[in-house]
Amino acid sequence: MDVTSKRSATTPLDASAVHATAPGRVEFIGNHTDYNGGWVLGATIDRRVEVVLRRRTDRGVRLESEASLPSLELDLDRVERQSGEQAWANYVLGMVEVLRTEGLELPEGFDLWVESTLPVGAGLSSSAALELATGAALSTAYGGGFTRAELARLARRAENEFVGVPCGLLDQAVVAMGGADRLVRLDARTEETSAVSFPSETGLWIFRTHQAHALSDSGYQERFDEARAARDRLRELLGPGEAEHLVDVTPAQLEAVQADLPERLYRRARHVVTEHRRAERVVELLEAGEREAVGQLLFESHESSRVDYENSTEALDFVVDRLKEQEGVLGARLTGAGFGGAAMAWTRAGYGNAEAQNVVNAYADRFGAELETLACQPASGLNVEG
Ligand code: ADP
Ligand code: MG
Repeated sequence: MDVTSKRSATTPLDASAVHATAPGRVEFIGNHTDYNGGWVLGATIDRRVEVVLRRRTDRGVRLESEASLPSLELDLDRVERQSGEQAWANYVLGMVEVLRTEGLELPEGFDLWVESTLPVGAGLSSSAALELATGAALSTAYGGGFTRAELARLARRAENEFVGVPCGLLDQAVVAMGGADRLVRLDARTEETSAVSFPSETGLWIFRTHQAHALSDSGYQERFDEARAARDRLRELLGPGEAEHLVDVTPAQLEAVQADLPERLYRRARHVVTEHRRAERVVELLEAGEREAVGQLLFESHESSRVDYENSTEALDFVVDRLKEQEGVLGARLTGAGFGGAAMAWTRAGYGNAEAQNVVNAYADRFGAELETLACQPASGLNVEG
């Protein structure tokens, strides 16, 4: 992909360009745990958002995306939230605004060109990739010197406060801290990350259903609100000092107060509480080389999403069921927010196109729709040059 030559012929530009790329991510395990103070494991994938930023000599800002979205021109002194077809620009403008509140000075505006090989709205976090590529480019172009971890936190703030999606830190932390041959473990309570070796001779496959998820839609917000409601009720039931985060509640405590919780909130809490513990256990098992047991926990995670969190779909369930029947699959589950989007499989060496095609064919027979596949390995992380 050569985007360095892209420039607008009509705007006054400074000569130098900053080129930043950020990968998408796949959630390995830890579903909806990040906004509940829990653990998540994710990996960066080899599909990326790429931005080229050129400083201008005036106060103008011009944003363009190859993804045939309308371009946007505005004044650096009047950065406002966009709506309708130009809403994509909010991920960029949100980064501009949070970086400015953190002290980054933009004496002149910039032109930003966006190109991407990452499917949008597939649960692979094109939004966080766009935020982080933009943040890294801005920080480099204007001398901000922000670290990756700082950019991750600021990108989350941009998405929460400017775009208006109440996401946790998972997407941004994995996109910013991920790299080849590793999983990123995020402890959302402390916002600390660490690297966990990705087992050799295993692969990741992504199966993207025909139902695009839409994070800003009601499903995600509803689960977020339910998780907060469950936590608040559990604080009342368990007494002072308990349930600072929903994941602090133990499965035994939850069971003891089951009768006093509305049934739906009980199930939402049970998913979060058990999912956090599955993520902890997966780290131990990966370190011990217990692959089969890790795979089992991935299947259990999907089951918990399906039954308790109700963020799966018939299409995702179908894909996971087919994968479960395949010898080369160690484990599989929905990945990301759910409500459509993608499922992922963790596979043994030798799992290849023929096996994936069997799933695609079964899916076509069942739904009359295409299932898009993507083979990947944990790939290099956020990168900036300029
Ligand atoms: P996901 O992060 O799972 O891909 P989201 O709904 O969180 O899904 O974010 C997708 C949004 O991010 C798009 O609707 C668009 O606004 C923005 N976006 C992602 N990639 C691009 C791109 N290449 N060009 C313009 N906007 C993009
Ligand atoms: Mg997103």
